[in-house]
Amino acid sequence: MKVDLRSDTLTQPDAGMREAMLRAPLGDDVFGEDPTVIKLETTLATLFGFEAGLFCPSGTMANQIAIKTHTQPLDEIICDKLSHIYNYETGGWAFHSGVSVRLTEGARGKMSVEQVEELLLPDYDWYPNTRLVTIENTVNKGGGSVYTLDEMRALSDFCKAKGLAFHLDGARIFNALTALGHGPDALHGLFHSASVCLSKGLGAPVGSVLLGGAAFIKRARKIRKAMGGGMRQSGILAAAGLYALENNVKRLADDHRRAKRIAETLRRCPWVKEVMPTETNIVIFTVQDAQETTARLAGAGILVSPFSPIHIRMVTYLHITDDMVGYVTEKLQELYPA
Ligand SMILES: *Cc1c(COP(=O)(O)O)cnc(C)c1O
Repeated sequence: MKVDLRSDTLTQPDAGMREAMLRAPLGDDVFGEDPTVIKLETTLATLFGFEAGLFCPSGTMANQIAIKTHTQPLDEIICDKLSHIYNYETGGWAFHSGVSVRLTEGARGKMSVEQVEELLLPDYDWYPNTRLVTIENTVNKGGGSVYTLDEMRALSDFCKAKGLAFHLDGARIFNALTALGHGPDALHGLFHSASVCLSKGLGAPVGSVLLGGAAFIKRARKIRKAMGGGMRQSGILAAAGLYALENNVKRLADDHRRAKRIAETLRRCPWVKEVMPTETNIVIFTVQDAQETTARLAGAGILVSPFSPIHIRMVTYLHITDDMVGYVTEKLQELYPA
């Protein structure tokens, strides 16, 4: 058996999703005339309580457009040391927006109000202007850790009081909401903008939607065009996103249950030093030598991502079945015979 746990981006559209893509009414979205794109944008904006949405080719572009729209050169953004925006977007904040970054050292990637407050700078000529705070929910490098509603609300209130913009990198926001047992309406009014990814756990092939106020999205739309992200008959992709929202949100709890089962087995393996708490679909654990363990797992047909010299990440998603998880748990226990 082969079980690929490297990433929840590995999903392939199923027959129903491909059918929805074939049937989608299309138009030129640069002219604002693709009905399926408009439907996806308005559906997500309504769900999350924003005025408007913008379909983007990737989550990276959605986050980078948000940063560019919220800031001016010489501004500074605050994010966590583990955040995707800081680690995995090629330093795009400097390249696209000319801003600097100051990092919190949160708990599994989750920042607190106190940590943000410590990083605010006085208004001197020699300091950048703190302008934007971004959080990620769930936090990928935090092992899929989840900000609770109270934690998000506290940060939101603080940002509002300080006049700072507050952005959510919601690549896995539906995983977070599933773990919390809330619908997207629980987030209404907390953020100035949010990105929501369709091509992670939701299983669409391409795309993220940036959400915000009408004026924010109008500006963001111009920046998307400047970045080369204006797409034409992109409704064929948006249709996959609409299908994913309809069909693949309710099954995320299964991914979480399967990830927890893998984590429990890892905790019983003597060769595993530590397993991060597993709240959603991501399992991160510590070993002696991540490369060596990754190769050994690959030999047993289990593909994983080495996340640092000593960390390994496994991710569950819609192609990972109970049978596969059974196979993985069996192999994990045989991996290093005594
Ligand atoms: C995957 C991901 C993104 C966006 O990634 P793309 O591959 O550019 O779509 C953003 N934030 C987080 C936390 C992610 O995991």
